[in-house]
Parts: sequence; structure tokens; C-alpha cells
Amino acid sequence: MYRAWFAAQDDPHERYSLTDVVYYSRSGGLLEVQHDLDALRQRSAAEWRQLFESRWMRTTWPYGSGVWGKKEWVCPTVADENIVSMFEGGSNLFWAERFGREIGVADLWIKMCGNSHTGSFKDLGMTVLVSVVRQMIADGQPIRAVACASTGDTSAALAAYGAAAGIPTIVFLPKGKVSIAQLVQPVAHGALVLSLDTDFDGCMRVVREVTADPASGIYLANSLNSLRVEGQKTVGIEIVQQFDWEVPDWIIIPGGNLGNTFALGKGLLMLRELGLISRLPRIVTAQAANANPLYRAYRTGFTHYEPITAAPTLASAIQIGAPVSIQRAIATLQAFDGIVEQATEQELADAAARADRTGAYACPHTGVALAALIKLIDRGVIRRSDRVVVVSTAHGLKFSGFKVDYHERASTVVQGTFANPPRELPADVDAVRRAVAQFIGG
Ligand SMILES: *Cc1c(COP(=O)(O)O)cnc(C)c1O
Repeated sequence: MYRAWFAAQDDPHERYSLTDVVYYSRSGGLLEVQHDLDALRQRSAAEWRQLFESRWMRTTWPYGSGVWGKKEWVCPTVADENIVSMFEGGSNLFWAERFGREIGVADLWIKMCGNSHTGSFKDLGMTVLVSVVRQMIADGQPIRAVACASTGDTSAALAAYGAAAGIPTIVFLPKGKVSIAQLVQPVAHGALVLSLDTDFDGCMRVVREVTADPASGIYLANSLNSLRVEGQKTVGIEIVQQFDWEVPDWIIIPGGNLGNTFALGKGLLMLRELGLISRLPRIVTAQAANANPLYRAYRTGFTHYEPITAAPTLASAIQIGAPVSIQRAIATLQAFDGIVEQATEQELADAAARADRTGAYACPHTGVALAALIKLIDRGVIRRSDRVVVVSTAHGLKFSGFKVDYHERASTVVQGTFANPPRELPADVDAVRRAVAQFIGG
């Protein structure tokens, strides 16, 4: 029998059940999900690999999901009938052959986490959290709703999974700071959508207050709730699995609230702990220069950290100045010989546009990660022969406004360096022939 529980990060002996309504330790720190590793060690590394392979992308409920295919490592305590899954994970690992050649690293891969039910990698964690909530409700706990603050993707995922489970969902969004697609997702799923006149950090403060008293019956679904981390951590495990259990040299991930930097590391450490891998990749967290508290701390050698007020960025999902998971992300970066890099608005937009020209369709956050990659190659930190994985966190289609403005050169923030606007022509064959000849040469 496999077991897992919440433990206080500062005192592992302070423990809670995963179905307790508790978000903080007695000293006010975050809780972390711990697993009974001795029980997990009863299976050999080869047996785990074989089990995970046998379930990968199959239909047996719920193990075909990339998250639930690793149920024993993620959340063994939830009953299968309470799992709320929409076949998360298993997203393709795309060999970015042309783009890699252009920027000088041939072995470049993009993990397409945006190819998911709600179009972002937030589905990986939300399936776990909402499943545990459904378990709590089945156990008779008085939970009436789930709630989150969001920069757009968390709320889309929570609303979809909540709707699938029939659990009322309340989302707090910073007014005017999420894309139209992200706003309409929770609207369509029937959530209560509260658009607050503040930024993400302001929404976070409000939702913490609203959920602080367990008697409210409103369960907090932000990533400070470590159930989400358990699902998100499968991204690192999947990447290794997709390389037939070989570890890449680098994994680059955009960071805002930084739960995902921690989660990526947690999955990889578990692989090593249980003997499936013997070395670790280096992790790069990429931030928008307009929202870069982690980058600033990195520049001090992590001796000094200060929250900031994040400025607007096209990478709106990471416009966060006071990241909740800052300390555990720093610990992760230290354990993975990590690097923090930043990207300006122009750099992130151009990197996304260049990748699109080679067949990707990069969201602005993926643009941040790609821009960081280009800088690290140019500085000689990432070498030409290294195997690099970029975690693409959302689908480009959620950010059509970003791409339209760039290609129509309508952005007030960035220039359309690689813009490719549609040509408007009369319906005249000669005019068309001239345009085509110009395009293909001749
Ligand atoms: C949430 C999110 C991130 C950042 O994840 P954090 O855990 O907040 O650092 C990056 N990109 C997209 C598209 C996101 O939705």
C-alpha cells in the first residue's frame, strides 16, 4: 500500500492528511506532499519503468493520463472513481530541428505542454487537486466550492475540471491582464468569474483571505496548495521517459509564481531517488525582464530576495512580483546547478516569432524560455552539442492577440522584426502572380 501526506517544509514531523483542509504549517510555511519512499522502493527501477511504459497513452481508466499513469508517485490515496481526468500529459516532445540549427543547438526539443485540454500545463496539477476535492466531498467533508487567483491559465484549468466534477468554481482574475481566450474559458465553464481591479498579487491576497477560514467551505486551488505540484512534477518525469529514460543536459522553463520550477525539480529528484536515473539535468528558469524577482535574487547569488511590483508584460501569465514558491524554487535551482535568465519584451516576441517560422506556435511565455536559450547559447553556457528541452507552457492559440499585434505591427510595446502581415490585393491574377513571384523568387 502506497501512502502520501502533507508535511511542513520546515518540520517534516508536522504532518496532515492530503484530505485535510490545510494550506500552511503551524509556523506559516508551505506544506509539501511527501511519499512513503520505502514502500515505493519495494519495486525496482526496472519494474517502475515497465509499469509506466505499459500504461503510457492507453485507455484503462485513469492510467492513460500522463499524470495518473504515475499515480503511485503522485497521489496514491485518491480512489480511482473520484479521479477527475481529461487525459492530461503525454504531450508531444517536438524535435525543433530547424529552429535548433538556426540558433546553434541541434539537439533541441520542445515539450508541448500547451497541447492539453485547457491549452496549458496547468491541467497537470489541476487534475490532482480537483480529484482530491472530489474525494473529500465523497468522504462527507463540507466543501462547497473551489477558488483560485490566476493570471489566466490556472483559472481556465480549475473551471474545466470543476465543471467536469460538478464542483462550483470561483476565479479571481486581474482585470484586463489576461487574454480574451483565457477570460472566456472559465466563463464558458460556468464559473463565478470575478475580475478585480488589481494585479495577480492583489488577487492572490484576496483569495487567501476568502479561503482562510475552513468554515467558509471554499477550498484554495492555487499552487501554494502542494497537491498541484504533485501533478505538475510529472512534466520532468515524462521528458525523461520520452527520451527512453535518458536525461537531457538542460531543461528550460518560464517562471512566474515558481511552483513549476519547484515541481519540475521534484519529479526529477524522485526519479533519481528511486533509481530510474543517475544524473540530473541543469534547470534554467526564464523570467520576463518586467517581472523578474527571481532573476534579481539570482544576481545576488541568492543572498538577497525582495518582492517587486511586476510591470506589464506580454508574457501575462508570469506577470508576478511576489512569487509564492520563491524559496523552494531557489532551493531547486541550487540543487540543479540552475541558472536564471531574463528576456525583454522585444526578445520574447522575436524568439516566439522565429520559432513559429520553423513550425512551432509559441505562446509569449515559451518565447521567454526560447529567448533565454538563445542568450545562453550566445554566451557559450549552453554548448552546441548539448541536448536541450524547452518546456512550452501554453498553446499559442490562447494568445492570438499577441501574435496579431506583432504581425500587423500594431504593438505599442515591440517591433514586428519578423512580422509577416497578410498582403491585401485586388482579385487580379497578374497582381497575384507578381506577389507569388516575389515570395518564391523568380
Ligand atoms: C503558470 C504559467 C507559467 C509559470 O508557472 P509558475 O509555476 O507560475 O512559475 C508559465 N507559463 C504559463 C503559460 C503559465 O500558465
